Amino acid sequence: MAVCEVCNNDYEMAFEIHAAGAVHTFDSIECAAQKMAPICENCQCRILGHGLQSDGQFFCCAHCARQAGFAQLVDHA
Ligand SMILES: [Zn+2]
Ligand SMILES: [Zn+2]
Repeated sequence: MAVCEVCNNDYEMAFEIHAAGAVHTFDSIECAAQKMAPICENCQCRILGHGLQSDGQFFCCAHCARQAGFAQLVDHA
């Protein structure tokens, strides 16, 4: 049994995500996304795909990066 660190649900099917040397425990992908997924600087959506990063800012797509002035960023093909 493990307790989700986002919603505190004690769930037997909880799973762990290891990231940057830390271990996080979640009961659902939704909770994991809420905790782990970066937010697009331009449209505020959660980035669940590859996304883009520049100067510590995250964007969901090249379009949003360009809106924010990062003209050099392109989508990962
Ligand atoms: Zn949860
Ligand atoms: Zn966006």
